[in-house]
Amino acid sequence: MTTFTINSDRLWGRLMALAEITRPDLPWTRRSFSPEFDRGRDWLRQEFESVGLDVSLDTAGNMIGRLPGSAQKNRPLMVGSHSDTVPSGGRFDGTLGVLAGLEAIQTLRENGVTLEHDIELVDFLAEEPSEFGLSCIGSKAMAGMLQDSDLDLQDGTGRTLREAMRSIGAVPEQLDQARRAENSNAAYLELHIEQATRLKSANVEIGVVTDIAAIRRDNVRVLGQTDHAGATPMGLRKDALVTASQMIALTEELTEQANEDGAAIVATIGRLELSPNAANAVPGVVEFTLESRSGDDDKLRAHTEGLLRRFEEIASARRQKVEIQPISCGTAVKSAGAVMQAIETATRDAGLSSMPLSSGAGHDAAYAARLGPAGMLFITCQDGRSHTPEEWVDQPECAEGAQVLMGAMLELDKL
Ligand SMILES: [Zn+2]
Repeated sequence: MTTFTINSDRLWGRLMALAEITRPDLPWTRRSFSPEFDRGRDWLRQEFESVGLDVSLDTAGNMIGRLPGSAQKNRPLMVGSHSDTVPSGGRFDGTLGVLAGLEAIQTLRENGVTLEHDIELVDFLAEEPSEFGLSCIGSKAMAGMLQDSDLDLQDGTGRTLREAMRSIGAVPEQLDQARRAENSNAAYLELHIEQATRLKSANVEIGVVTDIAAIRRDNVRVLGQTDHAGATPMGLRKDALVTASQMIALTEELTEQANEDGAAIVATIGRLELSPNAANAVPGVVEFTLESRSGDDDKLRAHTEGLLRRFEEIASARRQKVEIQPISCGTAVKSAGAVMQAIETATRDAGLSSMPLSSGAGHDAAYAARLGPAGMLFITCQDGRSHTPEEWVDQPECAEGAQVLMGAMLELDKL
């Protein structure tokens, strides 16, 4: 049982100091590969070094602070998250995981505790989709999943990801050096804000993440017929937008039903285009993306395929056609039982309550899970708001998260 306490004011001070390193006209913005990002990292490096970490940048641009363990075990205990933000983002998404890790390490050191495992504190490069449209660049590279073709992606100015990575000190020609083997980590831990309100509604402090949801995207094209909006009688139309609207309403209805039946699935139609998109024309073609997410791969497949079958029925009942094109289908990443248990134990030791939660959002942990047992803990954020300047967490809650993170590190060190 942990008898010492992390320094809440010090953690809070660091969170606010890093947040201040922002594009001044657009708080709180620290985009990967921007001058603010560089300044943020310079500041972070100093903080890491002040705690006694040996700081290096791997060839994929991940900043890693290392502290040797006492037992010279060859697999490190990795803790991390990210210091980049979305445009007009918040002050806690990502930075909390990095700075709470730092606070935990500092508290251990101040109390004379050396873990048996080496500790690696990682600020992963570009967790948020950068100007290159790709997310989790650093953790993907560490897992060996960043493709060479990804490096040719360009931002709006024509700069390639390869060039951008070089500018922050990465060596994109030698990505294999950043790659870690399967089972090279003793464990991976990441503290993050929940970005939702389930914890608060349940009046629980700590969320133990059970899985990071799989994301599936299908492109749906409804083919009706474009006609004159004045001359074509209602009964003779093949309005593709009305057909699409029935599909959209059914998606919500059936997905709500699936959740009532015990499946944790979300489905969204967030992109839609219609043609000819004119006030005086009956819409002839509508194209939209159905995005569905779940921590259960089988349920996700069954639910989405069921929905798509119903789309076909809706279209044919309205004498129209529908074309369905799969875009992508990932798999859910399960947290390791040992890591979940360590978080639960540490939560109890801290006198707090926990509950299991699935993460609908993607995180670096999904890729770190390829390097060994991995897991995440969530703390509440105000009204579940995130990726907005209003994102907020009260200081005591940040401290609770860091305390549990430290406790979980101590638990995992026993493995
Ligand atoms: Zn994040």
